[in-house]
Amino acid sequence: MFVFQSIAPFQAWLNQTRQNGAQIGFAPTMGALHEGHLALLRMASDAGDIPVASIFVNPTQFNDPKDLEKYPRTPERDLVLLSEAGCAAVFMPSVEAVYPPGVDLRLDIHFGNLDTVMEGKFRPGHFAGMAMVVKRLLDIVQPQRLIMGQKDFQQWSIVRNMLQQLQIPVELVMCPTVREPDGLAMSSRNVRLTPDMRRAAPVIYQTLLDAKALFPNRPAIEIAALSLDKLRAAGLQPEYFDIVDGNTLAEAPNFNSASFVVACTAVFAGEVRLIDNLILKGA
Ligand code: AMP
Repeated sequence: MFVFQSIAPFQAWLNQTRQNGAQIGFAPTMGALHEGHLALLRMASDAGDIPVASIFVNPTQFNDPKDLEKYPRTPERDLVLLSEAGCAAVFMPSVEAVYPPGVDLRLDIHFGNLDTVMEGKFRPGHFAGMAMVVKRLLDIVQPQRLIMGQKDFQQWSIVRNMLQQLQIPVELVMCPTVREPDGLAMSSRNVRLTPDMRRAAPVIYQTLLDAKALFPNRPAIEIAALSLDKLRAAGLQPEYFDIVDGNTLAEAPNFNSASFVVACTAVFAGEVRLIDNLILKGA
């Protein structure tokens, strides 16, 4: 596996790799890798692509400086895991390489309500920073396929919208959420859970499954209220539990005419903020 810290040698390698007709499947990450991240790379190889990853803890998508500071960083272990998973190359740039001083890379695009609902309400600026870094990484890597996780469903929706608006010729692939045996969605943040909170956290997935069992026989608003109660009863502090149209991320009193419906939630488990979602209908 090749490890690149600067852009020029990485692009030289990419150009050479593409010369023989190979296609690049790219999975951007912030490191502290787990099986969920490795599943993205496996999807790339299964599709016949050359799997390429990046590890970059993107400062512009952290609305809380303490969260950025506390974000787990395990670069040596990450490289071992990537290499074992068959990753061909990993890009680990410095902040200056991604954001050259004096260059304004902010995007002048609007996402409608996609970035104002759910995470957007609680993490102002998060998606603008996320979209900026994904665009920058795509400009550098120019992959044929971009593989991102369903775990961050709203992020996936915003990236899809960005690709459409900017007409970026890359195929966006969704990798299903990889879970621990007890249902907790794998996340780099899970290592920060206290033992008590780790025991409580699987209730998030259980609540999503219960919501799916009730849907569509009960109104979405009732299912959401019951779900919030369940999460609180388990000692978690939910920020939201929203049932939305999977294409528009809009809430609705009923989803009779929607073909794709997703339940999305964010909770604090002690000091650690976790997100998860489940498709209730369609796709
Ligand atoms: P992150 O390092 O948290 O920014 O995540 C990098 C990529 O991995 C994103 O596309 C995430 O959606 C994806 N990802 C993170 N956790 C999981 C998981 N448990 N299952 C599937 N994909 C995941």
